[in-house]
This record gives sequence, C-alpha cells and structure tokens, in this order.
Amino acid sequence: MSFEIPGVVWRRDPQRAAAPLVFDSPHSGTTYPEDFGYSCPFAALRTAEDAYVDELYGAAPALGATLIGAVFPRSYLDANRAVDDLDSALIDGRWPSALAPSHKTRSGLGLVRRVVRPGIQIYDRKLGVDELLARVERYHTPYHRVLDEACRSAHRKFGVVWHVNCHSMPSHRKGNKGGECADFVLGDRDGTTCEPEFTDFVAGQLRRWGYTVRVNEVYKGVEIVKRQGRPAMRRHSLQIEVDRALYMDQKTLEKSPGFDQVRADITELIEALKSFASERLEERRIEV
Ligand SMILES: [Zn+2]
Repeated sequence: MSFEIPGVVWRRDPQRAAAPLVFDSPHSGTTYPEDFGYSCPFAALRTAEDAYVDELYGAAPALGATLIGAVFPRSYLDANRAVDDLDSALIDGRWPSALAPSHKTRSGLGLVRRVVRPGIQIYDRKLGVDELLARVERYHTPYHRVLDEACRSAHRKFGVVWHVNCHSMPSHRKGNKGGECADFVLGDRDGTTCEPEFTDFVAGQLRRWGYTVRVNEVYKGVEIVKRQGRPAMRRHSLQIEVDRALYMDQKTLEKSPGFDQVRADITELIEALKSFASERLEERRIEV
C-alpha cells in the first residue's frame, strides 16, 4: 500500500517481503505552493532543490524498503529544521513561543529560508506569524508524522530499523567520481544517530565502487536524523549527501549522462543494505 497527502508528502511501501529499511527525501519536492509569495527569480529558487534525489533511491520499494518524499520544495519550508529554528528577522509580528535559531538560520537558511543562498533574498517582505505557523502545521508536521510512523512500524515489526535520510549537495567541480572532493558525505552527528557499523558499512560499499566518502565533515546531519536516531533503542538514522555534479547539470537542472550510473550504484547500495539488515537480524536471533 502507498499513499499521498496531496502537495505535502508521499509514501511508497515495500512491494515484496519488507526489510527494516526506510529512506526519505525531504528536499526533492517541486510543487510550489500558490501562497509562497516569493519575489526572487523562479530559476534561482529551484537551485535549492535536491533535484532527483527521490529518483536516485526510487528502487527502494521494489527491493523491500519504504521510501518517503516531500512534494513541497525545501525553499518554502525545510523539513530538515526544528520548528523553533526560525529567524526573527523574517517574522512580521511576535512569535508565540521561544525561538532557537542555529548558525545556519542566522545566515538565512532556517526552517523558512530568507535566502536561496547567501546573496539571493527570497522575499521582499516579512512573513506573518499565521502564514509561518500554517506552513509548519500543513507541511512540517505531516512530513514528520509520516516518516515517524514508517520508522516506528518497521521497528515494531523487526525490533530494529535502519533509516537513511537522502540529500544532495551543491558542487563546484566537474562530474567525475573520485579525487579530492567528496562524492558522498555521510552524517551521523558524530556517531550519535546510529551504530557505527551502519555508517562504516555504507562508507565501505561506496568506496569499493571508487567513490570518495567523508564522514561528518560539513554535513553532519540535522533535524531529521536527530529526531529518528535512537541507536540505544535500535533505531538507526544516517544522512547521505551525494555530490550533484555526479548526476546533474547544476545550471540547467537537467540530469547528466552520469545519472543512470549513480542510480544503479545507489540501487546496489540499497540491495547491500538489505543483506546487511538481514545478517544483523540473523545474528540477533542467534544471540537470543
Ligand atoms: Zn537536502
């Protein structure tokens, strides 16, 4: 079974014997809400998308995992931020509760962004309290509810869940894998959101295929892995960032010839994670 809250979030359920694996793509949504009210060029706004990330992981349901994706764009509301991670400079009026803006938010990249990237303002206005609260209630809350339910349900069934929070990162290089720049960055918030074996396993697989991988450098993971990651309760959550230059043209936002290879490798990664999960489940059965 699969379902969608129109304009907000979709969930695709495992098409065959389920594994305790959940993937989510919070930044690949491209349906821009009518009440957005931005004033920057639309093309600039689109560069904030983690374009095609949901497609890169699109094989997950056929392989027995759950895949969840945002329908709304990250520039409208960032599901990977806490609800109090808001910039008071953006708000017209008095926010009803305490705010806790992070350093990213102070540079304009909070729950609701002021800028697409430094230097490009999204609005020529402040946003009303009601308008901002409505975004949280209609988009942030249901996104997290759907993700949380999927992870809880897998955890209930198997006693463990491995969740992957899927992203892409902007790049300043041409698209060949390997070399100095990281092709993938894994983030487990310095070992706090999953068991180290999970991070090591993913890093090892990607390196075996010739990709360069960094761990907890620049992209350590933010709100989603923080919420989902409870390694002591066997709820493991890992963020994966892939370099956009490997699979898309960052100016035209079109897929590049590299897309199919990256998708094939990610499909293989999902298959490998399925084996990882069943081996770990087997070990546990033997222990018990
Ligand atoms: Zn992202």
